[in-house]
Amino acid sequence: MKYIKSDYEVFELELKSYPFPCKLCKKEQAIIEIPSQKIKVCKDCYNQFFENRIKKAIESYKMFKTYDKIGVFLSGGKDSATLLAVLKKLYPEVALQGIYINLGIRYYSDKAEEVVIKLCKKLNVPLYIYNLPKEENFRIDDFIFTYFKNKICSVCGAIKRYLFSKIAKNLGLTVIATGHHLDDTVSTMLNLFFQGDFESLVKLEPVLKPLYTGQATKIKPLYTTPEKEIFFYAVLNELPIVNFVCPHADFTSIKKKKKFLEDLSKENRQIKYQLLSVFLKKLIPLIKSHPQYKEKLVQPVNICIKCGEATSSSDQICSRCKRIALLNKVSDKTLELSYQEFLKYVEKLDKEKIAIFVVNEETDIFPNAIYISSEFLNVSKRKFLKFFKPYKDKILFFYSSDPKQSYLFVLKLKKAGFKVFNIKSVSF
Ligand code: SF4
Repeated sequence: MKYIKSDYEVFELELKSYPFPCKLCKKEQAIIEIPSQKIKVCKDCYNQFFENRIKKAIESYKMFKTYDKIGVFLSGGKDSATLLAVLKKLYPEVALQGIYINLGIRYYSDKAEEVVIKLCKKLNVPLYIYNLPKEENFRIDDFIFTYFKNKICSVCGAIKRYLFSKIAKNLGLTVIATGHHLDDTVSTMLNLFFQGDFESLVKLEPVLKPLYTGQATKIKPLYTTPEKEIFFYAVLNELPIVNFVCPHADFTSIKKKKKFLEDLSKENRQIKYQLLSVFLKKLIPLIKSHPQYKEKLVQPVNICIKCGEATSSSDQICSRCKRIALLNKVSDKTLELSYQEFLKYVEKLDKEKIAIFVVNEETDIFPNAIYISSEFLNVSKRKFLKFFKPYKDKILFFYSSDPKQSYLFVLKLKKAGFKVFNIKSVSF
């Protein structure tokens, strides 16, 4: 199976029947390699090795007690799915709660929701779904109309943090478990280190205790697990996971750090663990012992005057509330039109002022449309914008019988300041 992680990273797993027995049990046929160990093993030994490492991390960092109620926020991806499956298997006596936040990301959130429902059914874990567009009347895509159009992930992060906390309180969760793995942690640590953001480094610890009474403890049980091995586990155990990427995902800086890490790993297989150990055992304790950091700890936690959640902001309005206030000023958030709406929209427009692009197909519906392949989404930003530069003063319309493909063009061009719409359906 292939797992499309991003346009540059694809994981692949093909089970093989090796002509020798499992290196660990020496009985069953070896079918898979444990990448970090370079040994070939059978399915049961792979699972046991994988689960034991997570168990060890949970126990050595004392992540939770059996009486805790643990919430796992599910994204539809391999990390949170694997986390839930392993927790359920290792700790059947612990109360687990799956949670899915439908962020209203078009052509992504609803499909991910379907996958999460399947997963929770398979694992027999209760699932709570929070639908952002229905509950709060906006979707993450809407921020494309604000100053944050090129920082959608940071807005999404602020909104999710608020919801994690609110939902945890409503459901009486004492612990929130997230699927951050070894590769995530080490690349973020390096990123923050290079930026000199030492305070944020502390937040990368595997257990984050509550800042105030009633807040849940945050834990990262996959802290010591390499990403590739998580994918192998998910596939081996047939966990339902999405195989497509959020259209807002921007991998540029992560890509650089991950590539740097992968290059280092070729020389030294243990480098990720060594870096993790240096950060955890040397650097973070040093930061925590600094008088400036200690001073911060004793300061009272600010509470946002709008939503009541904790905030580090001195004006007592949290970043989520500030961003929503900005969104509320946008009157028209239209990104998609039906065919009828499109006809009405262009009725009185000078034909010179519009350009129609059809993605991946020829069609008679738009006879003068310009054909474009979805492959063009993968070219460099500079090449992409150079191609569309002559259309900067026009209103652009995109159409594809698979509207997700044309929507990706719309998002990319909207972020670059174009006036652009997706024609989402054609019916006569
Ligand atoms: Fe949110 Fe960005 Fe993740 Fe998409 S990729 S779900 S926008 S954080």
